[in-house]
Amino acid sequence: MSKVLIIGAGGVGRVVTYKCAQHPDVFSDIMLASRTRSKCDEIVADVRRDTDHQSLSTASVDAENVPELVSLIRSFQPKMVIHVALPYQDLTIMDACLETGVHYLDTANYEPKDEAKFEYKWQWAYQDKFKEAGLTAVLGCGFDPGVTGVFTARAAKHHFDEIHYLDIVDCNGGDHGKAFATNFNPEINLRAITQRGKYWQDGKWVETEPFEIKRVLNYPEIGPRDSYLLYHEELESLTKNFPSLKRARFWMTFGQEYLTHLRVIQNIGMAGIDPVRFKGVDIVPLEFLKAVLPDPGDLGENYTGETSIGCRIKGVKDGKPKTYYIWNNCSHQAAYDETGAQGVSYTTGVPAMLGAMMMLQGKWSGAGVFNVEEFDPDPFLHRLGEYGLPWHERSNVDLEFDDYQ
Ligand code: NDP
Repeated sequence: MSKVLIIGAGGVGRVVTYKCAQHPDVFSDIMLASRTRSKCDEIVADVRRDTDHQSLSTASVDAENVPELVSLIRSFQPKMVIHVALPYQDLTIMDACLETGVHYLDTANYEPKDEAKFEYKWQWAYQDKFKEAGLTAVLGCGFDPGVTGVFTARAAKHHFDEIHYLDIVDCNGGDHGKAFATNFNPEINLRAITQRGKYWQDGKWVETEPFEIKRVLNYPEIGPRDSYLLYHEELESLTKNFPSLKRARFWMTFGQEYLTHLRVIQNIGMAGIDPVRFKGVDIVPLEFLKAVLPDPGDLGENYTGETSIGCRIKGVKDGKPKTYYIWNNCSHQAAYDETGAQGVSYTTGVPAMLGAMMMLQGKWSGAGVFNVEEFDPDPFLHRLGEYGLPWHERSNVDLEFDDYQ
């Protein structure tokens, strides 16, 4: 029985709060805090209506202000913080956890506001501080990063002697009925996908132009979809933690309509992160764009279709080549019916809750800063399906693209 502080009242925070409230034996007291307290109150009212969880409270906090965080943590005294606000706040929340002696978990790695660049180096630099404090920090415990790392750890533990080729494949086969919207925070999402592509090949990174490499990949229950090679943060930790990998790539599906909108947004400068002066005020174009795009948290009601995210892995088992595919499909409608949030928030929030549960139950433990693939995948995957994200695996079938080695 533990107290937990959830920071961030967006789509993912909604799902985490719902899912934690379904397990009062583990999360006995839950506080949801965000910049805007009314958003927390709204979520908590919905959760109370659906789960009868009594010990839910809310607070307002600026997660970029360490003294404010420290004072909130000291007054509530949680065992851990689940951080599902924005990647800009990773370091301030880690600092506050160190100062107050509580564990930490997040779903996205740190990104400085003035540079669209996500790398683990800033958070890995906290290794000694967390070790010395005897605290655990778990990084990237959503779906991707998150479950994709746990899937890879399962493959390495149970299915291969060595893994050589990893392709993480992320398909959103859903339709929200809007001309253009992002499935999670538009600012973070657009910063990530408009970067240059990058993949790991034979011990080094190979860079590509954005959207330069496209394949048509076949997704279970969804079918073939245009998939583009992107750089995604888990490639950095997975290539470090599984040094036998000769190649690691990340693919994400985008429809033509989405790409056309994106091209226009970029061409007219609306994806820019440098401030422009407008009527005497400095405005960051991408922040303004976020304000006029649909809120990802509101996409759920009419969202149809499914997401399908998995790992396609090749390697060697008992001296023979082996292919292995592990994945989850998640229905947007089912996610919405349960939590009021669409599938992308759901597939992120469920693993965040489950990772926190693993920590509180002592199944994932240790002092220091960890990526999820460093822990035992078994207890996590044992529960993942039961808690809303059933997964499937197949060996030695060819779901792959034409040049898959
Ligand atoms: P939203 O934009 O919907 O929600 C983010 C919330 O963070 C908002 O409610 C906002 O507060 C709050 N927030 C922002 N700044 C502050 C601050 N300074 N102090 C306190 N609260 C703040 O995002 P999502 O819910 O879609 O995403 C949440 C996180 O999950 C992001 O980091 C995203 O990158 C990550 N993610 C990870 C995925 C994975 O698979 N690993 C997939 C999808 C998302 P308010 O509204 O109160 O002002």
